[in-house]
Amino acid sequence: MKKIGWFCTYTPVEILHAAGALPVGLKSDSGAEHEDVVLGDSMCSYVRSCMGGALTGSYDALSGVVIAHSCECMRRLADGWLYRQDEIKPKMLHLLDVPKIVTQSSIAFFAGGLRRMKEDIEAHVGPISEEALRASMATCNKTRALCRAIDALRKKEAPAVTGREVEKLIAASWEMPRETFNARLETFIADKEGQTGDKNAPRIMIIGGPGNGSLIKTIEAAGALSVVEHMCTGLRAYTGEAAFNEDPFLELADLYLTQTPCPRMLGKAAQDAISEIESLIKEYRVDGVLYYSMQFCSNMQMQWARLKNDSPIDVPMKVLDGDISTEINECEIQSFIKRLKKRRKRNR
Ligand code: SF4
Repeated sequence: MKKIGWFCTYTPVEILHAAGALPVGLKSDSGAEHEDVVLGDSMCSYVRSCMGGALTGSYDALSGVVIAHSCECMRRLADGWLYRQDEIKPKMLHLLDVPKIVTQSSIAFFAGGLRRMKEDIEAHVGPISEEALRASMATCNKTRALCRAIDALRKKEAPAVTGREVEKLIAASWEMPRETFNARLETFIADKEGQTGDKNAPRIMIIGGPGNGSLIKTIEAAGALSVVEHMCTGLRAYTGEAAFNEDPFLELADLYLTQTPCPRMLGKAAQDAISEIESLIKEYRVDGVLYYSMQFCSNMQMQWARLKNDSPIDVPMKVLDGDISTEINECEIQSFIKRLKKRRKRNR
């Protein structure tokens, strides 16, 4: 089975799956010393990690990649990849333009881009029939439904599901056939049904991008519980509810553009992103928000400023600047959680 890599949650993996490829999410630190010769050093560490990984063979098992133009750093990754293509094993590179606003014409524009992506994938992997695409859309919608069921468990007063467990589940999904992942989610839900957890632990919402390997571990080691991760390695990877459309590309374009918005979105979608964060805080009974802002990510810097200055959020929020490595300032997190514990005691 050919493997096709993807980087951003605005990439419809249904198209890769329908071609019979294994979609591989390149979401973690490749460990390649955050390459900065090709891209320069004012790039987010995730993009530098991906460029370094490409140049040092981390992705040699792939037949190609789809790079979504989710931000200027990602576009530079495509530039660097093309510039050093001779040294990089995966030969197919498809650059997918993703609108930053949600309107009928941006959805139509994105659908056009998805048809071109389909043609490129067909040229490198194999034919994609409408029947196969519909079947892949159904499989991926099942994943979304199962993830909603897990989210419902996490909204409970004493959830038996921890952030670490969900982090491991989602990380495992990046390289797993979707059908296997769905079966694993069903088992996980069956195991957790009827169980309860610690109802006294401060409930944390994390907002961010690709995240950091130590973040959730540090939060939960300090006696709190991560109940929702509004990140591209968390909730945002599996949200959205499909609205049927005769044209599967219009349906996919609508589904992906109207999913839980990432900080990259502009216009009304940027306001919707803030409103969604406010409602998620209520739904998950959040005690505190940790905003993990990836250094050099202008999207997150912009959204944090909006959250801090323009939103009526009434729970404590803390921003942490960081990168994709596992280095983290444990003391800052521990003191924030200590503060939340005191606040919970006072409000009881
Ligand atoms: S973290 Fe920000 S800068 Fe980096 S790829 Fe994601 S959106 Fe782009």
